[in-house]
Amino acid sequence: MDLRALYMYAAVPALLLCSAATFIQSPTDVFGPVDLLEPTPSSARDFGAVVSDPPFAIMRPGSAADVALLLRALSSSAKPRAPRAAVAARGAGHSLQGQAQARGGIVVETRSLPRNVVVVTAGGEVTSARAYADVGAGALWVEVLEECLKAGMAPVSWTDYLYLTVGGTLSNAGISGQAFKHGPQITNVLQLEVVTGNGEIVTCSPTESQDLFFAVLGGLGQFGIITRARIRLQHAPPKVRWVRAFYDSFETFTKDQELLISMPERLDYVEGFMVLNEHSIQSSSIAFPAHIDFSPDFGSDGSKKKVYYCIEFAVHDFQQDDGYTVDHFVELVSGEMSYIRPHMYSAEVSYFDFLNRVRMEEESLRMQGLWDVPHPWLNMFVPRHGVARLKDLLMDTVLPGHFDGAILVYPLLTDKWNKNTSAVLPSTPDGGVMYVFSVLRSADPSRCGRRCVEEILEQHRRVADEACRAGGGGIGAKQYLARQPSQAHWRDHFGSGWDRFAARKARFDPVRVLGPGQGIFPWTD
Ligand code: FAD
Repeated sequence: MDLRALYMYAAVPALLLCSAATFIQSPTDVFGPVDLLEPTPSSARDFGAVVSDPPFAIMRPGSAADVALLLRALSSSAKPRAPRAAVAARGAGHSLQGQAQARGGIVVETRSLPRNVVVVTAGGEVTSARAYADVGAGALWVEVLEECLKAGMAPVSWTDYLYLTVGGTLSNAGISGQAFKHGPQITNVLQLEVVTGNGEIVTCSPTESQDLFFAVLGGLGQFGIITRARIRLQHAPPKVRWVRAFYDSFETFTKDQELLISMPERLDYVEGFMVLNEHSIQSSSIAFPAHIDFSPDFGSDGSKKKVYYCIEFAVHDFQQDDGYTVDHFVELVSGEMSYIRPHMYSAEVSYFDFLNRVRMEEESLRMQGLWDVPHPWLNMFVPRHGVARLKDLLMDTVLPGHFDGAILVYPLLTDKWNKNTSAVLPSTPDGGVMYVFSVLRSADPSRCGRRCVEEILEQHRRVADEACRAGGGGIGAKQYLARQPSQAHWRDHFGSGWDRFAARKARFDPVRVLGPGQGIFPWTD
């Protein structure tokens, strides 16, 4: 079927685009063609590789106006809340559970939008206070970085992996080791261009159409499709001093992490991970150029193996000859830390290589055929008081010797997040510290087939249910990047924020055209 010939109509009460690809039209005001294409295999696939919902068609828009045309057609219904086809924006498709898919609907591939990056510095001078980049929402963060570096600038807040789109991460939060200092990516946006579910193109910011601006940030693709974003920039250092230190006690590990995030004036990045086996050290060292001479005893007496931990922090090195070198900084900081001496290692790398470090791991996994495999991941935001319990809960489900992947654990400060955005955080009575707890598992098909993936997902569901229980001694954690199994779960997830989220939906996407893959607003309720 040649879908390029498909026409959409402005007055569409009788236009039906059904999931079985039945196309019934009774056109009145024809306003022009919307180019739809046959679905490709990737439109029903994502990084998680556990959900596959083929769409009816895909669209590769050339502009925000194209997206508006489509959304206007689909949302202008005589019967409110009864759309004919749902639409999912798809950036790089690195979702985990079909969030960028649209079963029987239309996937809008944002990579086809203009991806030019315009770097603006105040009055031609590179002063970080007024510097920003205007970027297409379909641009990958690595593309944004490459362009900004030409002007000696860079965004302040990152994700660990850069081959994600601007629109995709801004629809979630966008976090990495810089977020303790600058907040997540969603708090470092100055302006957005959004096509709402109604098909209206709106430029919004904290002072202009602010309801839409804050709704869309962390909004899981529910309110509009972001087509451009204005991102805050800072000076880019030429080099970064990257440091790793090892621990054998979770308590000391987290205590030192909290010490480090209390020093934003000295440090630019703080993360950490669990060292479950020799493989954890090898795989995490692919990009880290210093030789790590740490061969801990993991024990060999059955399943209860010894676990270690690694903190990594980084300092931007502007290589200024002001007598206060990065070495001196690192010495000062490490003197206050309680790692297993002498197991601290450090390396000087280019800023680009530091930010792009996960790419080397990706290449290595690709070579082993272990990148395009199922990824049953669990990502949580955990209040400080519950992080040790969550670690214990999780370790009850993990055989450290047989774990493929990484477990990241690092603290963030909730007061660096703008609470007007749609992102969901746990309540953090103890000082605003919450931990990111990310279980990033790969399922090697030679050892873990479909059933095994389902078992891992089920284990994660149980851990998440227990960890998210609030009150009565519960941890009160919140999941990040997860698709909840039902609307009731979504209500629990949003908690007191549900009414605001639902009101935003009713305002910006009343016909519920957008974001079917999240399963937040099913058409049947
Ligand atoms: P997609 O998967 O294409 O889309 C994600 C969601 O956003 C979907 O609901 C989609 O409909 C919606 N969406 C996409 N584009 C738009 C748009 N323009 N407007 C509105 N809605 C849109 N996250 C972190 O925070 N920190 C990390 O360090 C991190 N590392 C990762 C590493 C890897 C290897 C992977 C696979 C994921 C990682 N993530 C991380 C998660 C990642 O941020 C999210 O999965 C993000 O959504 C991926 O961006 P994408 O472009 O692939 O989005």
